[in-house]
Amino acid sequence: MTRSEIIQPGATLGVFGSGQLGRMFAAAARRFGYRVHVFSPEADSPTGQLADVECIGDYEDEAALAAFCQHIDVATFEFENVPASVSAVAERFVPVRPGGHVLSVCQNRLREKSTLQQAGLPVPKFAPIRSAANLEQAIATIGLPGILKTASSGYDGKGQVKIHDAADAPAAWESLRTSEAIFEAFVEFERELSVIGARGIGGDVAFLGPFENDHVNHILDLSRCPARISDKTRQDALDITRTVLETLDVVGLLCVELFQKADGSLLINELAPRPHNSGHLTLEAFATSQFEQQVRAVTGLPLGATTQWCPAAMTNLLGDLWEKATPHWDQALAMPQVSLHLYGKQAPKPGRKMGHLTALASDIETATETALTARHRLTVPE
Ligand code: AMP
Repeated sequence: MTRSEIIQPGATLGVFGSGQLGRMFAAAARRFGYRVHVFSPEADSPTGQLADVECIGDYEDEAALAAFCQHIDVATFEFENVPASVSAVAERFVPVRPGGHVLSVCQNRLREKSTLQQAGLPVPKFAPIRSAANLEQAIATIGLPGILKTASSGYDGKGQVKIHDAADAPAAWESLRTSEAIFEAFVEFERELSVIGARGIGGDVAFLGPFENDHVNHILDLSRCPARISDKTRQDALDITRTVLETLDVVGLLCVELFQKADGSLLINELAPRPHNSGHLTLEAFATSQFEQQVRAVTGLPLGATTQWCPAAMTNLLGDLWEKATPHWDQALAMPQVSLHLYGKQAPKPGRKMGHLTALASDIETATETALTARHRLTVPE
């Protein structure tokens, strides 16, 4: 890559989507002296609070998108479920990293799984579903239990139904109220893992993770790194991520979520073409955080070192924690190994990601225990 291709500090980075991922991206970008403009339908958003400019607009409004893109030097995403027209419009003005083709694959579970399968990558058995009859046929071929998921717009377990009994299939199909879905074999996994891959303009790659992830009610609850896996599983996870980055020709960041079975083998669950909740602990525990890596990748700067300084665990803080009283921040902040991040969201609704805690320690068990204790102390009565 030539120096002239680098988008130098001082330039303006545009981000679509305005949640916490954009907020932490903006903080990393500003540290390098970039300006940050954000576009989303929300005002006073987590990203907008840290950005130089917050543009409030509809993702369908092409004139507003074009106006936004006239003032930026590169566009990236913190939220992938935007219409295809967003990257199509942005591409007329600036480099879009990752490109619209990556978003298009990641927005639709059927396109995603088919693309991965064609690249020879391991995915659970699946079938496209467009009718109750399709589902009946898929259950006969793939077997039960299985999960029926809407092809698009699902996240954190929304738009999913687990099917145990073929008799429940018609009701499951009706309940999704969609015209396109995917039926997947239910994977009896031993643990869930994720790897965050970055790929630069020149095809250079760097990996953060694998992270080991626990979900509660389909929402990420705890991530830890290093994951408790063999060297072989670790290498396989990195190799899979490299192949995904190269197959999709990603420039920017992409997270691969994986299921690890008891025999150590891996299956890809899904892809996220942006920073990922499981990588938040990289802010404290790694030489280069996932957000700095995103800044480096989309601007053409060299990717940063992937050294991990020490074992770390992260717990999410959901709106449920506010149920009885404002959490006791002093309790967590009194623990020297613990860092607190809050996203500036006003309404602490149940299930809403309001912030997270990261704990560092010399071993992963202590880091995990410390993160959980810190979170517990937030709600212990005085
Ligand atoms: P997703 O929105 O597809 O990431 O699903 C959310 C969570 O549901 C995953 O992190 C898993 O814990 C669980 N899940 C999704 N698909 C499967 C599957 N095919 N087999 C077992 N568990 C699954």
